Amino acid sequence: MLIDTHSHIYSEEFDADRNETVARAKAVGVGKIVLPNIDCSSLERLSSLAKTDENYFYVANGLHPTSVNADCKKELDVIFSEATFGMLPNVVAIGEIGMDLYWDDTFVKEQKSAFDFQLAYATEHGLPVIIHCRNAFAQIMDVMDAYRSSGLTGVFHCFSEDYESARQVLDMGYYIGIGGVLTYKKSVLPEVVSQIPLTSIVLETDSPYLAPVPHRGKRNESAFVACVAEKMSSILGCSYDDVCEITSGNAKKLFKIA
Ligand SMILES: [Zn+2]
Repeated sequence: MLIDTHSHIYSEEFDADRNETVARAKAVGVGKIVLPNIDCSSLERLSSLAKTDENYFYVANGLHPTSVNADCKKELDVIFSEATFGMLPNVVAIGEIGMDLYWDDTFVKEQKSAFDFQLAYATEHGLPVIIHCRNAFAQIMDVMDAYRSSGLTGVFHCFSEDYESARQVLDMGYYIGIGGVLTYKKSVLPEVVSQIPLTSIVLETDSPYLAPVPHRGKRNESAFVACVAEKMSSILGCSYDDVCEITSGNAKKLFKIA
């Protein structure tokens, strides 16, 4: 079985063929999908997809760093309200949260404090976190420093840093989320994954973004996590089935999925 630990197939990009998308994922052996939230505007869609099959979809609730602005306190109040948790089935994590200084660093202060707030919430409620980190590794590690011995764990989703950074993530006891970027020609990830244990890796798509080869440039979908697993098995020289079983086992352990 494969688990896509990061998929936004609840988004409008899939409105025309969401059922077929889920069917294609099941057909290639994707047994479970984790759906991370973006912001208030995505909660309804996320919740209604998750409710269609509670043995298949798992939910992360949180505020994405690129949705953080001057008004983020109000948005956090809604996302972290009892009403929101009440409408979301199967919440297994807080996510996606983190910092993104790639497109815009206007709200760096707000991003930091929203991230910190959500880490504190996750710690208090014993939930793992799904971390989005783009052009902000040092800043993220800085905020996370205070949580080092808190028991908090999680995954650095769509990891795209070098081996040194991967080492720091593993030393904190976090998992590394690997997606389509692994299959790209100039990616440093093949070198990184060959130096870290497979027991620390979970697979993901981040669909609709970052489709793996041979679908690069097109809309990504959960079925394509199989391409990531295939690439991983060829890099590590182990069987496809082993990659699927080990990384799914890691995901189940991280998200406490039975
Ligand atoms: Zn995402």
